[in-house]
Amino acid sequence: MWGCRFAKTPVDLVLHNAHVVCLDGAGTQAQAIAIHQGQIVAIGKEHQILNAYRGAQVHDLTGATVYPGLIDAHSHLLGYALNLAHTDLVGTSSWEEVLDRLRSDHANSNDPWVRGRGWDQNDWPNPAFPDRIDLDSLFPDRPVALQRIDGHAVLANRVALAQTGLLHSNGVPGGEILRREDGTPTGVLIDGAADSLLSRIPQPSAAQKTQALLLAQRNIVASGLTTVTDAGLDVEDIALLDSLHKTGDLQLRVVAMANPTEANFVAMSERGGWRTPRLVAESFKFYMDGALGSRGAALLEPYDDRPGHRGLLLQSIPEYEAQLERIHRDGFQAATHAIGDSAARIVLSAYENVLGGPNDRRWRIEHAQVIHPDDMGRFGPSSIVPSVQPTHATSDMYWAGQRLGRGRIRRAYAYADLLGQLGMLPLGTDFPVEDIDPRKTFLAAVSRQDAERYPQEGFHLDQALSPHQCMLGMTLWAALASRMEGEVGSIEVGKRADLVVVDRNWIQMADPHDVMSSEIQATYIDGVRVHVISQL
Ligand SMILES: [Zn+2]
Repeated sequence: MWGCRFAKTPVDLVLHNAHVVCLDGAGTQAQAIAIHQGQIVAIGKEHQILNAYRGAQVHDLTGATVYPGLIDAHSHLLGYALNLAHTDLVGTSSWEEVLDRLRSDHANSNDPWVRGRGWDQNDWPNPAFPDRIDLDSLFPDRPVALQRIDGHAVLANRVALAQTGLLHSNGVPGGEILRREDGTPTGVLIDGAADSLLSRIPQPSAAQKTQALLLAQRNIVASGLTTVTDAGLDVEDIALLDSLHKTGDLQLRVVAMANPTEANFVAMSERGGWRTPRLVAESFKFYMDGALGSRGAALLEPYDDRPGHRGLLLQSIPEYEAQLERIHRDGFQAATHAIGDSAARIVLSAYENVLGGPNDRRWRIEHAQVIHPDDMGRFGPSSIVPSVQPTHATSDMYWAGQRLGRGRIRRAYAYADLLGQLGMLPLGTDFPVEDIDPRKTFLAAVSRQDAERYPQEGFHLDQALSPHQCMLGMTLWAALASRMEGEVGSIEVGKRADLVVVDRNWIQMADPHDVMSSEIQATYIDGVRVHVISQL
């Protein structure tokens, strides 16, 4: 191409002096990228790109590694955002510490409700569920609602139970009100009962949600994520995200799954969902069961640590199948929370009935934590996508064996087996259930250890993912599971310029634990730098 060096093509941005890992499935690597109007227009060697393109901006990445912008395939954006205003109870090592954190956050606040999230009694010296007695004396006049780490249980005080009509309730369908020996509620509400209380707390305004979302966005892009999921929103909130994209306030790309309510079915069907440059809402999120920690996950055989108890189904099966038929007609995607092997079996059967064989709908089973061996082979023939969160494995490994017993724990959190079904496995965190940090996902998936290298041999290390598989799970496979692979998920010409710049190549680290000291140096969405550390 004689003359090229005299007539460089003008573009908005050139990134160079980098180790570009394209994660395009073909193993492509490069040193420089040319970006114009938010799109990747060329990828190549340093001199190729610098000779052919003149960037209005040129960023020297000083040898750093560039990956496609990271994608969280299962998270709760709005929940995370709103939680930033709640007392963080994650990592409390005792019930007393919960009380201390509430005291310091709420002693001088005049919020009408005291809210907290993230307690986990399995981390305390006494792993029994707490009782509201201390909350009643600490907050005798204000309602208190503290969500458990998994979101499937709430601890409420007397005022909160009274205000929501649950103090003298005989029970709530699809839920449990735990009781003391004298029959009064302990304050612990499980699944349907917890939801019933939460639904009666006054909802934040659109202005409060907006403020929370913009605060959340800062943390999210700083962790290297460019696309996140909201696994369960109402259409008003999906419309709010769309309006924030239109004003330019929200740059983060979002995959929004609608809650399966009548209003949402009607609105999504009439509108055909959303597919804008930054918002895809073409799916519904269903819940088949609860969580393992609160023994709400639906198991085929009883819990090992609660004889006769098999967990809870949260949906009537005929109603669920009718809803699946309905969204299938509109071309929408289904994503169903199924943690126990009984729930997974029901969802697989329902999906098989509606999908009728191989297809390109990308219907998903969220979490897929316990799969009966007879069911493992059922994902592939109906193109059903398992969607998993590796930090769940390393958070649950301390007690999951007590719930499941020796036999079943061996086939739980079986990421390598699940990857084998379709040859792809989208990864997420379920934030705010887990931390938003993708480095923690990488560490958990690759080492199957916690940050203290426990357990030494790894938690069923045969189910670990390789570093390369893990990066694909947080990029290309997550994009595929969200039907966005045409736009994002890999560094390829024609795709959006969503990129993350890190100081080390995670794929080549000798020790996966080194990821935790690795730095997210910059993040780009549509070729715009939305996060940068001062050193770059
Ligand atoms: Zn979730």
